[in-house]
Amino acid sequence: MAETKNQQGFVFSGKKRSSTGQDGDDDFIVANKKSMFSTGLPSMWEDPAAALASARHEFGEHGGVNMSIEASATFTVMEPETMRRMFAGELGPDRDFFIYSRHFNPTVLNLGRQMAALEGTEAAYCTASGMSAISSVLLQLCSSGGHMVASRTLYGGTHALLTHFLPRACNITTTFVDIKDHEMVKNAMVEGQTKVLYFESISNPTLTVANIPELSRIAHDKGATVVVDNTFSPMVLSPARLGADVVVHSISKFISGGADIIAGAVCGPANLVNSMMDLQHGALMLLGPTMNAKVAFELSERIPHLGLRMKEHCHRAMVYATKIKKLGLNVIYPGLEDHPQHELLKSMANKEYGFGGLLCIDMETEERANRLMNHLQNCTQFGFMAVSLGYYETLMSCSGSSTSSELNDEEQALAGISPGLVRISVGFVGTLAQKWSQFEKAFSRLQDSGLYKN
Ligand SMILES: *Cc1c(COP(=O)(O)O)cnc(C)c1O
Repeated sequence: MAETKNQQGFVFSGKKRSSTGQDGDDDFIVANKKSMFSTGLPSMWEDPAAALASARHEFGEHGGVNMSIEASATFTVMEPETMRRMFAGELGPDRDFFIYSRHFNPTVLNLGRQMAALEGTEAAYCTASGMSAISSVLLQLCSSGGHMVASRTLYGGTHALLTHFLPRACNITTTFVDIKDHEMVKNAMVEGQTKVLYFESISNPTLTVANIPELSRIAHDKGATVVVDNTFSPMVLSPARLGADVVVHSISKFISGGADIIAGAVCGPANLVNSMMDLQHGALMLLGPTMNAKVAFELSERIPHLGLRMKEHCHRAMVYATKIKKLGLNVIYPGLEDHPQHELLKSMANKEYGFGGLLCIDMETEERANRLMNHLQNCTQFGFMAVSLGYYETLMSCSGSSTSSELNDEEQALAGISPGLVRISVGFVGTLAQKWSQFEKAFSRLQDSGLYKN
């Protein structure tokens, strides 16, 4: 642990209570030298909740049950020589030596350890947004002239990044494929040229489930790195445990749960995460989408109840999907047996979390979608018309005209996004009976108005 640094009676760094384990446990739970973000041995990983519980627990500077927030941009050293050794890479965060918080910050590193435990990866690092996590990791993996293969059905921002920004700014091109069509994926990948296969574990907004083991096998055969956006299904799916190399997250969604913070993470092998922090070549270090330590602390406090929240999001989504289907509406939910990837998701999912907290209702036209949402929000208070997801309140948006509007009509059709698709992120406030009666009431008003024909 830290060398105790005393200077003129000031104790800069006392004996820290740095872990829950005895000395013997430290090798497992404390970051090792190679990987300062590491949670231990991913090979022993079995379940996200179990891994989070056995990850290192940081105590506060004064023995507080919560860690202290290291709210400093810069860090002092006792000897001038220490500074040289830190810049030479001889002393680093693994031994509690920090230089500057765009590089490493102890509070942000702690959240990274939690994210690595959650996803069962060797390492993780947290960023200022989901988009910065995605763009940084792709820029780290691809050089100018590089090629990627990606799913046609992606978050709108990611789709725009791959379609417009990366080709223009970096000469990195992407071939879009239907990831359900494994032959198409295989044929699109050019050995020696395709660096990355990119997809979402459960896609936005169509809720298509990716066959992560099979897609990873195809990509690895062609020498490509598999990057999976797991924003829609933390705890439910663990892509890295199913064969993916890198997992990216928008922490702004379920992991935060409060719809109050924008944040992201890259979870992956220690050598990749370390390379992203390299002083000469690191995309995170040099582009600088840094997370603030105070934000990292806030998020760290929410991760322990992520599992409970996900279970309730998923449980309610399953109940609503079943009931909405009975009303005769066209529901898309991977928990329903009629969902094309229901069995696949069941085979990949971690036990007891369910099938995700989002469902879609295809109202066919935008007008009908808008009327339904209007009734649900303004007549019965079932939820809010808002983009984003993973909030404790229910959020609804018509994807085609909002979060997927970066895709043109043809791209939307290819991605399977109907103009009347209402994406619902199921919240967990109120009682289920209360919230369901609000849905029923809104729907029957819609029918009474004669604007919805069954
Ligand atoms: C929101 C979202 C992103 C972008 O994350 P930000 O935190 O908003 O930058 C990326 N992927 C998916 C699937 C998302 O839902």
